[in-house]
Amino acid sequence: MIKDNLHNIKKTIPEQVTLVAVSKTKPVSDIQEAYNAGQRVFGENKIQEMVGKYEELPKDIEWHMIGHLQRNKVKYMAHFVNLIHGVDSLKTLIEIDKQAKKHSRVINCLLQAKIAKEESKFGLSFNEIEAILNSEEIKTLKNIKVVGLMGMSTFTDNVKQITDEFESLHEFHNKIKNAHTNLNILSMGMSGDYELAIAKGSNMVRIGSSIFGVRNYNA
Ligand SMILES: *Cc1c(COP(=O)(O)O)cnc(C)c1O
Repeated sequence: MIKDNLHNIKKTIPEQVTLVAVSKTKPVSDIQEAYNAGQRVFGENKIQEMVGKYEELPKDIEWHMIGHLQRNKVKYMAHFVNLIHGVDSLKTLIEIDKQAKKHSRVINCLLQAKIAKEESKFGLSFNEIEAILNSEEIKTLKNIKVVGLMGMSTFTDNVKQITDEFESLHEFHNKIKNAHTNLNILSMGMSGDYELAIAKGSNMVRIGSSIFGVRNYNA
């Protein structure tokens, strides 16, 4: 049961770590069940799916976009999204800023770092992240706020590799936090590796299948 799963996971997460319940592909009824059990932060990876759920569900839910962003769809979520995890270019920040401005909002964003060795994973190198944060353009974007970093480990059973990847992002996060205030969030860890991620400094975990069960993409 979703309620029991949530309860069991919460017991393993320190209080200062934010739990994002990843509800992608799951029906509104599942989210409502988690909501009734006290969960308020949910993550989705497709903008249209998130918009549909936002419209049906209670308005005190905090919606996080965790997927790869299509710039032309940012406008559909600009009026309500709370945190965008997967920003991987200055161009995308500029688009988010433009759309947020139309709603007189400031949208919080995380820059996605590429820490996995897989070609398929999106994200920026540490150098690229520093270049964006130090750019002149970013100072002109008044309707976005970069509040931290996000990373995904390689899909592997190799615990040492996952640990090293989390560790490298943690170290980089610590390094740039001094120069850039506001970068407090470090979003890393999913169902299979969140305890490792927390041990390596994560303060935001994105957990789907351990709460809602395995996803069926053919349903
Ligand atoms: C699907 C997804 C998750 C959650 O994955 P689980 O293994 O089901 O916990 C976390 N982060 C991102 C970016 C995802 O796309």
